[in-house]
Amino acid sequence: MEIIEKQDEKSRRIKLIEEKLKGKDCKLTPQRRATLDVLLENQSKHLSTEEIYGLVKTKFPDVGLATIYRTLQLFDNFDIIKKLNFGDGCYRYELSEEQKHQHHHLICIKCGKVQEFDDDLLGELEQKIERNNDFKVVDHVVKFLGYCNECLQSYDN
Ligand SMILES: [Zn+2]
Ligand SMILES: [Zn+2]
Ligand SMILES: [Zn+2]
Repeated sequence: MEIIEKQDEKSRRIKLIEEKLKGKDCKLTPQRRATLDVLLENQSKHLSTEEIYGLVKTKFPDVGLATIYRTLQLFDNFDIIKKLNFGDGCYRYELSEEQKHQHHHLICIKCGKVQEFDDDLLGELEQKIERNNDFKVVDHVVKFLGYCNECLQSYDN
């Protein structure tokens, strides 16, 4: 039952994205679709271009890295995905959240682990910034750097 629900959710999202592309005269080609599948099947993994390429290649052995690169750029332009920089030397990608404020990330500067968190206390800060700086805030991009629980514990010992 759960698997069926997951499948439904997946095809619903793919349909939405397909329509978004169609509105701009872009097609969800099989290779683009495969790239999208990889992103949908690996949520919260924040894959790099190379990692996405490796996974698409299992379905399309002939696909080139340049195609994946261009596809990701296209998806980024359409706000289908978010391009992330965790400071580890490459860009990483995740699907944009629909109708919802994108979650934020906690990045461990020792082991590189990335945790996601949703609760957003920045609305209040935005209001303050607007009041004090005569500036209309529409969004924020933020990442938190620190030590994960495991690294903290190994540091203590
Ligand atoms: Zn994330
Ligand atoms: Zn860590
Ligand atoms: Zn936020």
